[in-house]
Amino acid sequence: MATELDKVEVVTVGVGWTGGIIAAELAKEGANVVGLERGKGRSTEDFQQVHDEYRYAIRYDLMQDLSKETVTFRNHSDERALPMRQLGSFLLGEGVGGSGVHWNGQTWRFLPYDLEIKTLTDEKYGENKLDENYTIQDWGITYDELEPYFYQFEETTGISGEENPMSAPRSNPYPTPPMKETPITLRFKEAANNLDLHPGHIPSGNLSEAYENPDGETIAKCQYCGFCERFGCEYGAKSTPNVTVLPTAEKTGNFDLRTHSNVTEVMYDGNRATGVKYVDLQTGEEFIQPADVVVLTSYVMNNVRLLLNSGIGRPYDRATGSGVIGKNYCYQILPGATGFFENEKFNTYMGAGALGAAVDDYNGDNFDHTDLDFIHGGVAAITQTGQRPINNNIVPKDTPNWGAEFKNESLKYYHRALSVSCQGASMPHRENYLDLDPDYTDNFGYPLLRLTYDYTEQDRNLHDFLMDKCADILHEMGADIVEPTEMTDHYNIVPYQTTHNTGGAIMGGDPETSAVNNYSQMWDVDNLFVVGASAFAHNGGYNPTGTVGALAYRAAEGIIKFREENGQLVEANKTKNSKLA
Ligand SMILES: Cc1cc2nc3c(=O)[nH]c(=O)nc-3n(C[C@H](O)[C@H](O)[C@H](O)COP(=O)(O)OP(=O)(O)OC[C@H]3O[C@@H](n4cnc5c(N)ncnc54)[C@H](O)[C@@H]3O)c2cc1C
Ligand code: SF4
Repeated sequence: MATELDKVEVVTVGVGWTGGIIAAELAKEGANVVGLERGKGRSTEDFQQVHDEYRYAIRYDLMQDLSKETVTFRNHSDERALPMRQLGSFLLGEGVGGSGVHWNGQTWRFLPYDLEIKTLTDEKYGENKLDENYTIQDWGITYDELEPYFYQFEETTGISGEENPMSAPRSNPYPTPPMKETPITLRFKEAANNLDLHPGHIPSGNLSEAYENPDGETIAKCQYCGFCERFGCEYGAKSTPNVTVLPTAEKTGNFDLRTHSNVTEVMYDGNRATGVKYVDLQTGEEFIQPADVVVLTSYVMNNVRLLLNSGIGRPYDRATGSGVIGKNYCYQILPGATGFFENEKFNTYMGAGALGAAVDDYNGDNFDHTDLDFIHGGVAAITQTGQRPINNNIVPKDTPNWGAEFKNESLKYYHRALSVSCQGASMPHRENYLDLDPDYTDNFGYPLLRLTYDYTEQDRNLHDFLMDKCADILHEMGADIVEPTEMTDHYNIVPYQTTHNTGGAIMGGDPETSAVNNYSQMWDVDNLFVVGASAFAHNGGYNPTGTVGALAYRAAEGIIKFREENGQLVEANKTKNSKLA
């Protein structure tokens, strides 16, 4: 029998970027906040002197243990889904700070076009640009309305960047200057300028200089150590929840962080969320934590799974297209090309997670799609994240997979291979969704989340367009061999792609077609907020966390309002795009 604890004002499920932001903002307001995180605690000291590629990048030390809980996957609804037994396509974070500990730090803002995609696409290209199976919709908030929250995230995290005329417009400069220019970024920028594109540095959460944020937290200067993506930062130079929002929350004395606490259910009385049920993973004890406000901040997969396992909201039904929980699951495509330079070396072993340069010219609606058979696009970038020894054997395609020739070519091209690639936007499709698996359960007997997903025609058309653009840039950079990255026949969950899963509890202006309003407050349950990329109505052409952070600050403001006003914070609007309350 579960032990019922004293009621608190706010409980967050998961303590990564979203949980940390909610905790800091609410604790500063004087609310008592409990953060339940199923992983362990960790801090900068844990990562000192351990640049261990095998442990972190190959064996995924900082990530979810799939023997306890995983997702099941199939490409189509007429197939049987099977459990993902090893992390692959995406790397689910676990532990205090979530994936925010081992992320790269590329911190973009989605474009104004993204937030009003349905309205703007219909206006410019007509209602039939995509067929009716693509369930694109406006987000219920405009870019101008969300802009201050983007900056709030960037100011808290000290993002290093430079203005770019094709990126989303800004009311303030980046808090810190861009990262270093390197021979690789210079070469990319020169080539992009020659092609009349508009290159700029990638906005970075690895900071170009030491920075103190408005809450008094300090972030150190990046050392370009190259052990960044999939690693914690031993210098405290990567913006993570652990060096920004979590210390802020803790300093208030109002934040109670409980690690090894796995939430299994949201307690729901048919009208309100009354708290959450969780298991202490070290003792096996079960607890009920009552709360005035419940906030799901457990990433896309667990936000959706907890709603479905708790019987909250209307599950999406692919046959009829009705329901919202699990709807509009999106991922991203990764068109690109690799260039091999016979007579030049680029010191690719040095780098940082977000060091690189990019062009936005092929993103969003920055170019005319009238004669194209797709919408949207993607940011095209070159990154210099640091080629670590085990996992980097980039060789031309006709090289054998093993033996002396493979070794020779690996050594030869270690410093001579550069890739330009895109984060290609992903449009929601009726056949791509999340629901509960009928066969497989987790350690505690709760159904696993089932992922049904494959590439669409829109993905394929966009992929080929962007792939050619990446190849053009590499030719202009002077590569001797340019090999475009072809798309596979079907989405494959095995090789790593991105941890940019989105959707499943999407935001919008209409409760019929969205799960949450523009404060991430559930339409069906006033005191339940579902925060994170689960709210994205489609996936844009950038990494998501800048937008996730903005939505989390907006949600925090909503919860503060809710403490005073109760009830729904936004009036439902059956039109495509509702204005803010
Ligand atoms: C290798 C890698 C590189 C990345 N690089 C970038 C990048 O450069 N730019 C970018 O924009 N994004 C990047 N991302 C994505 C970015 O990390 C995520 O967008 C961001 O961390 C999401 O924050 P979140 O709070 O929503 O979820 P998370 O960070 O995943 O945090 C969720 C937390 O909830 C906990 N949790 C889950 N279920 C439960 C439960 N039932 N009970 C209790 N706790 C639970 C988890 O343990 C986890 O700690 C990267 C991700 C990875 C894995
Ligand atoms: S590259 Fe910079 S931010 Fe990343 S881990 Fe190394 S020092 Fe830290």
